[in-house]
Amino acid sequence: MLSFFSSKAPKAAPTAAEEAPSGSAPSTFDKEELSRETGIVLDAMGSLLQLYSKFAFDTELRTGDEIRSLVQHWRLHGVVGARRPDHPEDKPGAGIFYRDWKGLINFFGEQRRDESKYVTRVLSDFRDVTWAFVSAVHTVVVEEHEESRIANDQLSRMRVAVESNSTDLMKREALAVVSVMEKLIEHRKERQREQFAILADKLKNLGRELEDARRESAIDGLTGLHNRKSFDDYIGRSIELHTLLGQPGCLMMVDIDRFKQINDAYGHPVGDAALRQISNTLSRTFLRRVDFVSRYGGDEFAVILQETGIDNAFMLAERLRRAVSDLPPIEVPGGAEPPQLTLTIGIGELKLGDTGMDWMKRADAALYHAKRAGRDRVHTIAG
Ligand code: GH3
Ligand code: MG
Repeated sequence: MLSFFSSKAPKAAPTAAEEAPSGSAPSTFDKEELSRETGIVLDAMGSLLQLYSKFAFDTELRTGDEIRSLVQHWRLHGVVGARRPDHPEDKPGAGIFYRDWKGLINFFGEQRRDESKYVTRVLSDFRDVTWAFVSAVHTVVVEEHEESRIANDQLSRMRVAVESNSTDLMKREALAVVSVMEKLIEHRKERQREQFAILADKLKNLGRELEDARRESAIDGLTGLHNRKSFDDYIGRSIELHTLLGQPGCLMMVDIDRFKQINDAYGHPVGDAALRQISNTLSRTFLRRVDFVSRYGGDEFAVILQETGIDNAFMLAERLRRAVSDLPPIEVPGGAEPPQLTLTIGIGELKLGDTGMDWMKRADAALYHAKRAGRDRVHTIAG
């Protein structure tokens, strides 16, 4: 819908006497004041649009130059009533100018949506390509570790042969060195070919994977923590990062003790309240951005701690265990004695070459050990 404004030039600021409230009918002063303030608002809006167009950039819908030109047209339309872009039929009158505010807002909204879509997509693509790269480097680091072990073994045997002074043994070991090296070089070539193929495949599938990831919700509804799906995605990436940066990492499996009994004795709503309370305590204990706290399933939680060795992980787990046993009692129906919540925690340290499954097994074994030892305790297994 079109509306209009008077284009009168803004007047000088009123004196204190002039500012006294007048009667109910609009006075000449009111109109002048309104016109002055309208001028200020239009100027401000013009400056904002000017700034916006200055930093325009290419998006999927339009080039930066097209956006700049459109914004300038809309700016002139808003400030002085010039023709709207793409509306040659517009006829600006003299003195009174029509303004299509709705059109301007629609244009601006569409522009922002397009920018937001574009920036989100570019950032996600960039993040995924970075992860594909990290993953490739991780494979190289792990395999090279294994190759240097084989080469070092063979070189040690060569050293022994040289020290033995037996020319026969030296000849045999020298031939073995050549054969091992040939195999390693052949293996490396093969591996590089495979990795190029995998990377190319990853890039091809990127768009589809992104869509899938977006569709799957990443948060557990009851506790607000990351859900199992996020954990499964994260553990692999976390291993790749740890290998790349050579930092220690720990996986903590946290399980509520005799939780089934709590459900049986007090009912599911009390069980749910306990799960929420423990989740909040977990979030308060692991505050760093790099700590990944998730609900693994049922009454079990998994925490991935980056840049954390086994001793520090043990201290943190003990802090969590004490925080949960010190929680204020949960409200239970009928004034019954509230349940005492306790946790058992197993920690597995990451070892070079681990898959997600290996790491999980170590943390699970630690949890199992702590449960068997009597619950309400922490057990660790080093990598
Ligand atoms: P343990 O000390 O050996 O861990 O014993 P437990 O009773 O905690 O072990 P178990 O795995 O047998 O019990 C887990 C229980 O968690 C069983 C299930 O009813 C309950 N549970 C799983 N998910 C939920 C949930 O979302 N809400 C509630 N209230 N209970 C849940
Ligand atoms: Mg349990």
